[in-house]
Amino acid sequence: MSGAAKVWFVGAGPGAPDLLTLRAAKVIGEADIVIWARSLIDEQTVREHARPGAEVVPSDERTLEEVVALYARAKAQGLVVARLQSGDPTIYGALHEQLEACRRLALPFEIVPGVSSVSAAGAALGQELTIPEVSQSLIFTRRPTRTSMPDNEELQAFAAHGTTMALFLSVRRPRELQQDLLDGGYAPDTPCAVVYKASWPDEVVIRCALQDLAAEVRGAKITTQALVLVGPALGDGPDAGRSHVYDPGYGHRYRRLGRPDRYRKASRG
Ligand code: SAH
Repeated sequence: MSGAAKVWFVGAGPGAPDLLTLRAAKVIGEADIVIWARSLIDEQTVREHARPGAEVVPSDERTLEEVVALYARAKAQGLVVARLQSGDPTIYGALHEQLEACRRLALPFEIVPGVSSVSAAGAALGQELTIPEVSQSLIFTRRPTRTSMPDNEELQAFAAHGTTMALFLSVRRPRELQQDLLDGGYAPDTPCAVVYKASWPDEVVIRCALQDLAAEVRGAKITTQALVLVGPALGDGPDAGRSHVYDPGYGHRYRRLGRPDRYRKASRG
């Protein structure tokens, strides 16, 4: 067989089989080779979507070079590859080097966006991460591990903004994490959440104050597959989650309530 070779980098979502997009399911169903990591999506789900006869390859024990060798074979044999990536492929997906490899092979590729674990974590918490007049920015970052951080991206500097922060790949050293966030200027009682395996059957949600974060993560023995969220929007007090847009005294474009002073404020913002 020698069709048009191509690699699809497919966002597989946070883990729940029904958080794959329709496009992802279609692409997986048409691929000749499906590459996926066992830690990220149930094998049964992959096999349900893959067409009979497709080559299904677990990626977890393969190096980048071995995966690229598969891409080279796809190119030579005119095969279509679906490479599943956790959440959204463009966020900490080790995607860049794979795209470079495709370019070197002159192998066409396309990316299918996915439901990020941040979205699944917000859903698990039942909260908005950007609450008007509480937090209007969401910082996606991580602590350095084997991957170092660019000099201008220190966690403390981000923490100084005091807005909502989503920390990927950062639960392994919770004491250092907590200290960096405190050093940056979050108050010790800043609300935090840890969401382990968002959208999986064994999902765990922990809420605590920043000063208790390390002890809570240790206590729950969480070392991987968790997001840490921190910032005032995560409070579960009566006012923390309240958006002024839906405040009974608040008018906006669709719902003016004779409060022009507040309306003007809204339109500026
Ligand atoms: N591309 C992915 C992130 C990959 S990096 C995305 O968009 O979500 C891997 C990190 O993502 C993990 O260390 C963890 O911090 C987070 N992560 C991925 N899936 C998760 C899940 N189901 N629940 C909680 N965190 C998750």
